[in-house]
Amino acid sequence: MEKKEYTLSEKEEIFDDIKVFRFIPKDGENIRYTAGQFFKIGDAGKKEEPKFRYYSASSSPDMDYLEFAVKIVGRFTGHLDSLPINSFVQMEGPYGHFIYGGEEKSLFIGSGVGVAPLMSIIRGLKYQNKIKDAILIYGGRKTEKMPFFKELGRLEEESKGLKIYYALTGEEKLPEGCKGVLKRIDIGVIMQLVPDFRERTIYMCGHKEMLSSLNKTLQIEGLSLEKIKIERWG
Ligand SMILES: Cc1cc2nc3c(=O)[nH]c(=O)nc-3n(C[C@H](O)[C@H](O)[C@H](O)COP(=O)(O)OP(=O)(O)OC[C@H]3O[C@@H](n4cnc5c(N)ncnc54)[C@H](O)[C@@H]3O)c2cc1C
Repeated sequence: MEKKEYTLSEKEEIFDDIKVFRFIPKDGENIRYTAGQFFKIGDAGKKEEPKFRYYSASSSPDMDYLEFAVKIVGRFTGHLDSLPINSFVQMEGPYGHFIYGGEEKSLFIGSGVGVAPLMSIIRGLKYQNKIKDAILIYGGRKTEKMPFFKELGRLEEESKGLKIYYALTGEEKLPEGCKGVLKRIDIGVIMQLVPDFRERTIYMCGHKEMLSSLNKTLQIEGLSLEKIKIERWG
């Protein structure tokens, strides 16, 4: 486990409370990690509790910065959001085992900022030219509020093996160029969009309720536990 000071280099507002933060290592050497892992970000210049929180990197290890998609919901995120560019934070990690296993066929399921570790994995695979047969189902309200929407569109166009579907709850019709459904992700949506889901290893991160319900229903549909990888944030 490494611990290093990082500098806040960029903050991108996706929509209202959704921000993407980029940090560069103060000494120029990024902490080595595997796509899908998370970091402890700490002591963001604040004296009182909370002193740290955990965040999944959305960057891939080939990038020279660490990137995080964060929903501003409470004390730590509020403070992170108030930091001026060039502020220092403590970065500790990497942590976690939510790592792509190299399978031929995969299904990534993410909702909200829960897409972060999946983005890291997809970016990493694209960089290494290793996308084989991967499908992402990305859930959210409206595409304009969803981090990485434009980049994912480009990645899909450029990568033969990558398909992206959206599950949108705040739109009346699917935006131009988007495939998917106008409802929350559930087992019915998976069956409809990815009929061969039983042949895939499934990686998911996002809303608690979605993860619990999919975990149960996927097993009922015959998927073994080894084929269901879940990153839980709480
Ligand atoms: C392994 C791991 C990886 C994580 N990765 C990320 C990440 O990439 N991006 C990210 O935004 N968070 C991530 N989290 C959650 C993060 O660690 C914090 O818990 C979160 O940012 C809230 O911290 P806070 O101090 O601002 O809120 P707190 O002051 O601790 O909580 C405020 C309130 O907000 C609620 N809340 C917390 N998260 C959400 C949410 N997403 N939506 C709605 N309400 C919420 C809490 O239940 C609480 O009621 C991750 C957690 C873990 C364990």
